[in-house]
Amino acid sequence: MTVVPPGSTIGILGGGQLGRMTALAAARLGYRCHVFTPEPDAPTAQVAAQTTIADYGDRAALAAFARSVAVATYEFENIPEDGVTALAKLVPVRPSARVLGICQDRLKEKTFLNRIGVATTGFRAVDSAASLARARDALGAPAVLKTVRLGYDGKGQRLIRARSDLDAAWDALGAEHAILEAFVDFRCEISVIVARGLDGRIAAYEPVENSHKHHILDRTIVPARIPAKAAAKARAIARRIAKKLNLVGVLAVEMFYADNGAVLVNELAPRPHNSGHWTIDACVTSQFEQLVRAICGLPLGATERHADAVMQNLIGDDVRAWPKILRQPGAKLHLYGKREIRAGRKMGHVTYLAPRRA
Ligand code: AMP
Repeated sequence: MTVVPPGSTIGILGGGQLGRMTALAAARLGYRCHVFTPEPDAPTAQVAAQTTIADYGDRAALAAFARSVAVATYEFENIPEDGVTALAKLVPVRPSARVLGICQDRLKEKTFLNRIGVATTGFRAVDSAASLARARDALGAPAVLKTVRLGYDGKGQRLIRARSDLDAAWDALGAEHAILEAFVDFRCEISVIVARGLDGRIAAYEPVENSHKHHILDRTIVPARIPAKAAAKARAIARRIAKKLNLVGVLAVEMFYADNGAVLVNELAPRPHNSGHWTIDACVTSQFEQLVRAICGLPLGATERHADAVMQNLIGDDVRAWPKILRQPGAKLHLYGKREIRAGRKMGHVTYLAPRRA
């Protein structure tokens, strides 16, 4: 096993806040970061040693980037898989292009999960109005129609209730490949952040509870208010997925805790995740440091939680409350350095800490 020692340069594809917080954690361990992003003045670039501004399809720029880094990772999953595959021929990319390929495609993802014995809601592949009608008959209503690729924060989704909704929903989705999922009557949404090191060791954080506004994560409550048995099950599921994916890096596993006590996996993200931001302030090792440790072949850090926490996202105009937040004891403010406030844009977050109760 080759260790990428402190002092080396880590490449990060993507320039958003996840890359920014990864670069900050990397710097704390003595690494430099080189960020590859199409966007000028990206949040990651503001804290990275080096920046390449180029499109993800620019093979020459990717090759030059590869030559300058010891290992590469990515901070969002909508990077073309073939670009990552090409990059991986030149430098280790962690998590692998295969993991990225599974997580980019909702059908591949759910098929993989079921194959390894992890429960999801029922689903069918849909590629025409006629196959949507058949899937609807098989799964019942309500059901959720989603694009197979490039969906996040609820984009590219339609709720189907009645049979009469079908044609309109198919037209409105405007995608060639889609998935219809049986609607889950969940008690709450939870997630587990899990890391797997180069040595195969796995570390999972505690399950947390997530609530959304307009399909965007609004708040994470730590720990999740679910029975201990369900929490243990959620953690075990996340560990199993990390193992079966042969993951090297960090993975977020989003799950539904259903009314009947079942834990169903909804989605995987092979990177640090918004629902893991609380780990910066409430854990010995944050999800970002854990990513650096995993991809550099270092031992994983402890995932113990030393405080209870609530993470509140600051979306759009919410960020204007920063002066008030700074005056609150127990509030830890994180701003992402985005100049322009836009509706729905993640501008920062606050972690509210309280003494650990259980
Ligand atoms: P996703 O893009 O798959 O993470 O979905 C975004 C949000 O839509 C989830 O966090 C849920 O709140 C809701 N959702 C997605 N799929 C389902 C489903 N099959 N049943 C019920 N709610 C869902």
